[in-house]
Amino acid sequence: MRRSLAVVLVLLLAACGLSRPASLDASGADTFEGDVRTARELTEAFWKQQFSTLGRTYRPVADFVPYSGTSGPSCGGEPSVPNNAFYCPAGHFIAYDQDWMESLWTEMGDGSVYLIIPHEFGHSVQAQLRAGFELNVQAELQADCYAGGTLASLVNAGALRVEPGDEDELFRNLEAAGDPTDDWLNPSAHGTAEQRQQAFTNGVQGGVAAC
Ligand SMILES: [Zn+2]
Repeated sequence: MRRSLAVVLVLLLAACGLSRPASLDASGADTFEGDVRTARELTEAFWKQQFSTLGRTYRPVADFVPYSGTSGPSCGGEPSVPNNAFYCPAGHFIAYDQDWMESLWTEMGDGSVYLIIPHEFGHSVQAQLRAGFELNVQAELQADCYAGGTLASLVNAGALRVEPGDEDELFRNLEAAGDPTDDWLNPSAHGTAEQRQQAFTNGVQGGVAAC
């Protein structure tokens, strides 16, 4: 599993003829805030184009809310919790604990931001494509797959760049922080780390249409 993504990313790397320094984004954003902004902008631009191809109109999230600890917005009456990022279907917004995400960015590299944000946007896409959106294992794995498809497309387009070693970083992040939203360490509730890595890999290999 681990190796298959590594191979995919190395192939993408080879195809693009890219080699580069540490950060994933091609614009060279090297700050946490810069990576968050880039990840959001690239992901929404990607989905806008995908929807357009299908003759549909992508609806951007209504808000994108950083918070600290327990100060986050509630969603449908549920308070937000520390160390989390989530999509709220009731308000069609994404919120994230910026202290937590910045600590991941610092400790694990910018891949954390480029996984978590596309994953949460994946949920916002699910909410637009199907009625009765709810979170479950299937939705989580599809969001992981969407994240893989989004990243692969952005790499192909030259907006993001990967280098040897990035695949390990991405997998570590997927394992540790892919989606803590709903106690994802509980394997029965949200899929095992292996399932999530496989879902992500499926997206990398087949694009979001394969999700
Ligand atoms: Zn999720």
